[in-house]
Amino acid sequence: MSKTTRRSFLKTGGAAIAAAAAMGYIPFAIGGAGKKVVIVGGGIGGATAAKYLRMMDPSIEVTLIEANPSYYTCFMSNEVLSGERDIESIHFKYSGLRGHGVNVVHDWVSGIDADKRVVKTKSGNSFPYDRCIVSPGVDFKWEAIEGYNEKVSRIIPHAWKAGPQTVTLRKQLRNMRDGGTMVIVPPTNPFRCPPGPYERASQIAHYFSRHKPKSKIIILDPKDKFSKFGLFTSGWARHYGFDPENPTAEGSMISWVKGAEGGKVESVDPKTMTIQAEVEEIKADVINIIPPQKAGKIAFAAGLTNDKGWCPIDGKTFESKIHKNIHVIGDSAVASPLPKSGYAANSEAKVCAAAIVAMLGGDSAPQPSYVNTCYSVIAPGDGISVAMVYAYKDGKIVKVKGSGGLTPGKFDAKMRAREEQYAHSWFNNITNDVFG
Ligand SMILES: Cc1cc2nc3c(=O)[nH]c(=O)nc-3n(C[C@H](O)[C@H](O)[C@H](O)COP(=O)(O)OP(=O)(O)OC[C@H]3O[C@@H](n4cnc5c(N)ncnc54)[C@H](O)[C@@H]3O)c2cc1C
Repeated sequence: MSKTTRRSFLKTGGAAIAAAAAMGYIPFAIGGAGKKVVIVGGGIGGATAAKYLRMMDPSIEVTLIEANPSYYTCFMSNEVLSGERDIESIHFKYSGLRGHGVNVVHDWVSGIDADKRVVKTKSGNSFPYDRCIVSPGVDFKWEAIEGYNEKVSRIIPHAWKAGPQTVTLRKQLRNMRDGGTMVIVPPTNPFRCPPGPYERASQIAHYFSRHKPKSKIIILDPKDKFSKFGLFTSGWARHYGFDPENPTAEGSMISWVKGAEGGKVESVDPKTMTIQAEVEEIKADVINIIPPQKAGKIAFAAGLTNDKGWCPIDGKTFESKIHKNIHVIGDSAVASPLPKSGYAANSEAKVCAAAIVAMLGGDSAPQPSYVNTCYSVIAPGDGISVAMVYAYKDGKIVKVKGSGGLTPGKFDAKMRAREEQYAHSWFNNITNDVFG
């Protein structure tokens, strides 16, 4: 990967961006000379913003501060749990971003002084900025389930931030006896990746059906419905014996207990591996608790959150509604109807980068457009998706009518096989777009 210089930018990417600018998509402005943008968090939102800022205006000094030396994508981590791929296939480093001239610093951001415009790190360094982008992902509401906390999550993993926890859960599933019980506890809304817990159940059921066919998965859900509900439940019926009319029927590998029927979990005892839901107590072999969520820690420390624990933003620029010159993107931001997904974080990052380039050059932010698709693989050869394009209208992010939709409910083997291929090619494309 060659370093982006103003010259190479103008010769290559510049032409494409100029063409896009001519169509009104991206502001073509090299007006940020000497301006500094500091980005907190090098996950999907932060890494995309860093790369696109440098591509849109290579005169801007971009510093990306990320706690970890490398990044594991959450997307496709459910396929690591089923053994369909290994953990290294979702592991990405920051050399690509450095090649774009991003100054990548590995440190924990401990505070942001919005008045002085300085980002501070745990190791005592300060980074002044003209604009700051915050993309710290999510933090957990540890207090939601009695007995569950950060320490217990080492034994009962959430695996909702991919990496070591994904590996732990995979090991537990491999070591589980055939005929064992695995419990998944999805969170309340809103949370990172709405179809994720149900894709997880599908992938684990796929693994069990091949290697531990007498085993069971019980989903104890605080909710009565979930993303791609009909597509998941009919898929579970096709592959894993699920009965949509009787979702807790004995004969099925997957059993789903909804909130209205006592699915809400009250407490867990890690010593006895028992979990107390509203109506029943279950002793499990493996438990996966995905706690309710809120914005990443730094969003609270920097005073960027509202009373619900998320960061209100202006959807046109992603600038915080609380602190000027700080933009929040990705899972931490209130960007509904965009979901808390990696694809949405990637799209928001590009909108935010374009707005910052324009604003640093003294222009107003361009009219944005946003996109999201979430793929899930229920079983090999059976992929599904939900897609939508969004626009900015009357001060709000809105869905563009007729722009997206769901995979048709009527099963078509060829289409489902194609959806699985799309899911995997999407993974290759987006990770290259973010880290390449
Ligand atoms: C099982 C699962 C499956 C998923 N599948 C999909 C999918 O198929 N499609 C899809 O679009 N999305 C999917 N997602 C959702 C997607 O992973 C997230 O929405 C996305 O990662 C959000 O990006 P982000 O930048 O907000 O946060 P992240 O990608 O989590 O990045 C946050 C980064 O900030 C760093 N950080 C946090 N605080 C600090 C600090 N104080 N100092 C320094 N660094 C800090 C963290 O280390 C992290 O690297 C899935 C999620 C899960 C859990």
